[in-house]
Amino acid sequence: MKAWEANIRHVTPYTPGEQPDRPDMVKLNTNENPYPPAKEVREALHKMETEALRLYPDPAASQLTNELARFYGLTPEQVFVGVGSDDVLAMCFLTFFNSKKPVLFPDITYSFYHVWAELFGVPYERPALDGRLHLRKEDYYRENGGVIFPNPNAPTGVAEPLSDIEDILEHNTDVIVIVDEAYVDFGARSAISLLETYENLLVVQTFSKSRSLAGLRIGYALGNPALIRALNDVKYSFNSYTLNRPALEAGTAALQNEAYWRKTLAKIVATRERAKKRLAGFGFTFEDSQANFLFVTHPVWKAEPLFLALRKSDIYVRYFKQPRIDNYLRITIGTEKEMERLYTFLEKYQEETGGDVS
Ligand code: PMP
Repeated sequence: MKAWEANIRHVTPYTPGEQPDRPDMVKLNTNENPYPPAKEVREALHKMETEALRLYPDPAASQLTNELARFYGLTPEQVFVGVGSDDVLAMCFLTFFNSKKPVLFPDITYSFYHVWAELFGVPYERPALDGRLHLRKEDYYRENGGVIFPNPNAPTGVAEPLSDIEDILEHNTDVIVIVDEAYVDFGARSAISLLETYENLLVVQTFSKSRSLAGLRIGYALGNPALIRALNDVKYSFNSYTLNRPALEAGTAALQNEAYWRKTLAKIVATRERAKKRLAGFGFTFEDSQANFLFVTHPVWKAEPLFLALRKSDIYVRYFKQPRIDNYLRITIGTEKEMERLYTFLEKYQEETGGDVS
């Protein structure tokens, strides 16, 4: 070993979903929105002067922060923005999880949480979801260094009622509780309404899913001004110009067309509800999802070979080779047409493999 090698930090990174670029692919693997962003986004980007790119963006991202505050009926001091919610969540781990006690998050959840915990040296424990993939709220009543979970959870799609989240908050007034609401707009109830009551609550959301802007990387946290100030102090100790100019313009514009946002959400929810029926018809089972994806398993078809067969047909879904969930597929809800491609594939697969359990 060379001497300098001893100083290199070795970590096991998060594995992002693959981003294939094939002409006729059906991409149902990273929970993107199948519909384009609002027309205001296109207009805002067209209007942008490339000359402006010569200059750094506003480090406070005020234009976007103000618009988010307006949208949610909060003050700008209650809003923090970052480069996707991944960036915001990483900042949260750095800022709020500094106890020697373990941070708690579910065993089956967004697999970036344990990567950040490892990266920042945060102790953590992972209480197991119950047999129906729900959070057991009692697991979060013990002493800890903080709590984080997505609602709806990923990759399960399962949402917890707001009353359970409030229970968890009631039992955790001495630590920061973060609710990651990346998928909340697709049907779960947001914890934003609890911000007034719980000063230690932080709600994190993203433009990547319901607002069709995964490519721009915009995420945000909503919470009491003391938490937002702490996040900004860490951010300014790390990288002050996080959001670039196009992201600030387009993100602000995306918030202006609420009608379009609601329309695409309704379309995705309708397609999801039909998908539940169609996939159940093929024999898949799943817990009820309130997100823009379904987390399915099948009594006959093994997940991994099915994942590979789909991939060969340019239909991309997500497979996690992890304990407890290695016989599941996570399928993002696409357009009706894309979902039809999936169903047609499954009909053929059924004929070929005899997986008919109906
Ligand atoms: N939280 C959860 C639960 C997610 O599934 C994702 C998407 N991978 C994110 C946060 C991060 O999304 P983004 O960085 O695109 O906002």
